[in-house]
Amino acid sequence: MSHVFPRHTRSLPPVVARGEGVYLYDTTGKAYLGGSGGAAVSCLGHGDAKVVAAMKAQLDTVAFAHTGFFTSEPAERLADRLVSLAPEGLDRVYVVAGGSEAMEAAIKLARQYHLEKGETGRVNIIARRQSYHGNTLGVLATGGNAWRRAPFAPLLIDVHHVSPCYAYRGMEPGETEEQYGARLAAELETMVQELGPETVMAFVAEPVVGATLGAVPAVPGYFRRIREICDRYGILLILDEVMCGMGRTGTLFACEQDGVAPDICAIAKGLGAGYAPIGAMLCSAGIYAAIEAGSGFFQHGHTYLGHPTSCAGACAVLERLVDDRLLDRVAPMGATLRAALVDRFGRHANVGDIRGRGLFLGLELVADRDRRTAFDPSRGIAGKLKAAAFAEGLICYPMSGTIDGQQGDHVLLAPPFILTEDHVGE
Ligand code: PLP
Repeated sequence: MSHVFPRHTRSLPPVVARGEGVYLYDTTGKAYLGGSGGAAVSCLGHGDAKVVAAMKAQLDTVAFAHTGFFTSEPAERLADRLVSLAPEGLDRVYVVAGGSEAMEAAIKLARQYHLEKGETGRVNIIARRQSYHGNTLGVLATGGNAWRRAPFAPLLIDVHHVSPCYAYRGMEPGETEEQYGARLAAELETMVQELGPETVMAFVAEPVVGATLGAVPAVPGYFRRIREICDRYGILLILDEVMCGMGRTGTLFACEQDGVAPDICAIAKGLGAGYAPIGAMLCSAGIYAAIEAGSGFFQHGHTYLGHPTSCAGACAVLERLVDDRLLDRVAPMGATLRAALVDRFGRHANVGDIRGRGLFLGLELVADRDRRTAFDPSRGIAGKLKAAAFAEGLICYPMSGTIDGQQGDHVLLAPPFILTEDHVGE
């Protein structure tokens, strides 16, 4: 009998034995094609020699040193590299152990920034419905996914939610993308005014919504309008690139394609590519300066901050993405995969939408394609699809629509960047 506490207690998963390229193998020898990189993690595939060597070398040097006492060469190198590659203005890097930690740090930094500046009344966070920012209580409250929040609702802080930018379901007949983006931005501005601008500390969003909507980018111009509103009212823009960042959409940071830079950005998943549990929060020089000029202390820490072995791995991941130009494969391979999906499923009666950017693609599953009717959530379509695909040896990432009935089931695809046309065919 196993003593592991599995996530699904009624269906025990197979035991993984090894990984090679885009495949995982279980102990019976069965191969699984990694169509979603786990949950958009394995951007390099398995067994990347450069990353493995970098981490081994670091383990031989110093595996861990607490940031209460030391910084480390790999942490310094990682911060320098990330800042050199990040959108304009992001200047400091706070290295944590995963995505929820990075987002939790982002929210707390936003609050502390306003406090240090004497704007103590800025307590309100505005985020978007059907978003996911992590599983710890602060960021679970920030996320707007009804199903994930439901069991813990009594424990969650109040966060205000506006509509997501979800053209397939949100755009009204006759409305242009520009008008839709402007309408959503106006909704945010109205909420800011209702709450009182001096009470709002941050607006939080994923540039391309991952787990909860299935690779949904914003319409052109949306984020530029959001940036303007944040600037107008002194509100910090926090972008959650935990899933869509690190090259997944074809640029290292997804927001580059929206033409905006955030005040704070969270990354994780692809940063460690599955080789190390790591995430990072990047913030502007101005935010850092406010802390430095104020208390001089960011009141938030975790034991594994700046973990040297994880940082060495992440530095090697960036070398693979940028210096070895794996990032350059994302847009063309994404276009190939999308074309294959459109060819195979574009006219399928139960596929309502195929969308995404780069190697971050989503299919929305519908009961009625013409009316865009979602499947009844009680049918558990996503779960059945996940099980059927897994049985065939394909790992993909389906999710059920939420209980608020405003979205359908979807399948998320986020394969490693080493994907070839043969894998697409498979
Ligand atoms: N933010 C986004 C957009 C995510 O997709 C996720 C995880 O799926 C998280 C935050 C949380 O990251 P982690 O699971 O590493 O804590």
